[in-house]
Amino acid sequence: MNPFLDQCRAAIGAAHLLTDAADMAGYLTDWRRRYTGRALAVARPATTAELAALVRLCVQHRVPIVPQGGNTGLVLGSVPDDSGSALILSTARLNRIRAIDPVNNTMTVEAGCILQRIQEAAAEAGRLFPLSLAAEGSCTIGGNLATNAGGTAVLRYGNTRELCLGLEVVTADGEVWDGLRGLRKDNTGYDLRDLFIGAEGTLGVITAAVLKLYPQPQAQLTALAALRTPEDALRLLSLAQDKCGAGLTGFELMSDFSLRLVTKHFPQMRLPFPQAYPQYVLLELSDSESEKHANGVLEGLITDALEQDIIQDAVVASSIAQSKALWQLREHIPLAQAEEGKNVKHDVSVPISRIGEFIRATDALLQQQFPGCRMVTFGHLGDGNLHYNVSAPEGEPADAFIQRQEPVNRVVHDSVHRFGGSISAEHGIGALKRDEIRRYKTAVELQMMRAVKQALDPLGLMNPGKIL
Ligand code: FAD
Repeated sequence: MNPFLDQCRAAIGAAHLLTDAADMAGYLTDWRRRYTGRALAVARPATTAELAALVRLCVQHRVPIVPQGGNTGLVLGSVPDDSGSALILSTARLNRIRAIDPVNNTMTVEAGCILQRIQEAAAEAGRLFPLSLAAEGSCTIGGNLATNAGGTAVLRYGNTRELCLGLEVVTADGEVWDGLRGLRKDNTGYDLRDLFIGAEGTLGVITAAVLKLYPQPQAQLTALAALRTPEDALRLLSLAQDKCGAGLTGFELMSDFSLRLVTKHFPQMRLPFPQAYPQYVLLELSDSESEKHANGVLEGLITDALEQDIIQDAVVASSIAQSKALWQLREHIPLAQAEEGKNVKHDVSVPISRIGEFIRATDALLQQQFPGCRMVTFGHLGDGNLHYNVSAPEGEPADAFIQRQEPVNRVVHDSVHRFGGSISAEHGIGALKRDEIRRYKTAVELQMMRAVKQALDPLGLMNPGKIL
């Protein structure tokens, strides 16, 4: 008998408190299967009131809390440590769409709603919710907010933070803060909403949010361009922004080696060019007028880019199936890397204007120290965000190379720091990069972060060991 667990059962119903090892297994291991923790139990409350009651029980019994949404996070933020003392608070049943207001262009949703369902509900109301990432079939809006997720449309619509107007939060002492305001203007003191966004569950549990909606585009076109260098990709970005304005909604860079891994491990996928080029850009244009107008703009852009010798070749998808096939090339890069074997991954950002310089300088430093290492460089170039991953030299076993992760990280992250960048552009800190941020944040910054944590979670029960 465990009085804490009994009280949890009484609060949410015995069926919704999982304590059996087999039932809990899926909640304990991270998405990439790098780490498995232990927990007292997994609780699946169905309402904000139930979740708040559980937090109050945790405070009373001093039980640490690990909030969990879709468990697709990539920095070990959603899984507990191996002490076995924590309660995992799953938002899976907190998944109602509470309201849609097409005139205010907002929707109010609960934290456990799967992102894809939110996109679909917005579309049914004739609106667009633009957040989009490859995990959208499994990740939740609560997790997206807690990690301030990025994705493929940040260039036009911003990160999740920019897509949220209000929050409902269960605080670390089990109070409910109703900040579900659908206001575009609200200057009434400290912005508490922004404290919880990106806090990775270390300050409180997000239970609902008011999200921003946008008009649906009339047409969406995708093109793949072949180029010589990342600098040419930057020239293409400037030209595309001049020609397409806010219509440019995606701009992804992919190196030749990244796509060669895709065609090697997924031979059914092909590049639509007769020869290979060093770099590729996947470009998406959303148009508020018509398909014809979008085609005109895109064709004009490609013609100008060819004439100015910025790109070497390009194809425009002429059907939804072709557009999907182009996006699949991009989305299969992480899967192809997994097939190739472990590699040292980095999710970094630098000022957009310095991306070419950063890649050249850091590639050279890595080749000096790890001769023959192979770079899998791709990412959201339009946001200055690169997934800058380092694979073992040809012939060296991946498992042996991964042992050199620390020195590889040092070269890459020091270089990011010199370029004025961030060592975590969109995935967060979690437990994985906790020690790493101490190297790169100033003492003043870390002290302010600790002060916020101490003020909002004085007992240190909210997702301990993550971020700080
Ligand atoms: P979880 O993994 O469950 O949790 C993530 C963090 O948020 C944890 O710290 C957890 O404690 C906390 N948390 C979860 N729910 C709440 C809540 N309600 N209240 C408070 N804290 C909470 N990320 C990007 O930014 N851009 C991408 O393009 C991208 N692509 C991806 C592609 C794939 C294939 C995969 C597997 C992941 C990708 N990710 C990407 C990472 C991941 O999908 C995002 O971080 C996502 O936002 C996590 O949502 P989740 O519901 O799975 O959260």
